[in-house]
Amino acid sequence: MKRIIIAIDGYSSCGKSTLAKGLAKSLHYAYLDSGAMYRAVTLYFLDNQVDYNDPAAVLEALRHIEIHFERIEGQNRTFLNGRDVEHDIREMRVSDHVSPVSAISVVRRAMVEQQQSMGRRRGIVADGRDIGTVVFPDAELKIFLTADVDVRTSRRHLELAAKGIDAEWDEIKRNLSERDRIDSSRADSPLRKADDAVVIDNTLLSEDQQLEKALALAKSKMDQTPG
Ligand code: C5P
Repeated sequence: MKRIIIAIDGYSSCGKSTLAKGLAKSLHYAYLDSGAMYRAVTLYFLDNQVDYNDPAAVLEALRHIEIHFERIEGQNRTFLNGRDVEHDIREMRVSDHVSPVSAISVVRRAMVEQQQSMGRRRGIVADGRDIGTVVFPDAELKIFLTADVDVRTSRRHLELAAKGIDAEWDEIKRNLSERDRIDSSRADSPLRKADDAVVIDNTLLSEDQQLEKALALAKSKMDQTPG
């Protein structure tokens, strides 16, 4: 069967990574967590006191950032300059700055270039905000995920608690709403549904039900795609 690209976009904490990981596992595809890359850049800026409002400082810092992924004991891990930062990039201090950092065009250009090279051999599931519109506009399957914001907040709350990251429910809701606002209104690559994306609202869907729907869509795209 032809190996395709699956692009998943949507609001913050909609379950994009859960769906993307499930699809990648079922189809034996690679998984690309593009948000982890923007989070790693943000962590670097915060830890190295890089003023991200200063274009020269941002350009200089980007020359010193190397991001890659490794699979360790079945888990996807994000590495920044050789260090496993998978835990640190999920902290609230990173979530609080990641959207303004992601709005910077030179940051986006560097990340998108790397993402596109990771997709060259196809057989990849990528999730983010601009995957179907900018990174892989030729993806065979594009999914736009949405869910009620209170449901998203509760899911995020549980997920952070499971990782040992302490955050209040209200603080999480504020962060999700603010990131959605910045991500959707920025000038460069704003979050929007690609014209050819399929919308899935998973407010009332279980993880299994959501995966089943997406797998059916993927299989039908694979059947339609010439080998
Ligand atoms: O996916 P996640 O919530 O971890 O992404 C964190 C942030 O990274 C988003 O709120 C957005 O600002 C940025 N992002 C982006 N483009 C992507 C993926 C993430 O701008 N493709």
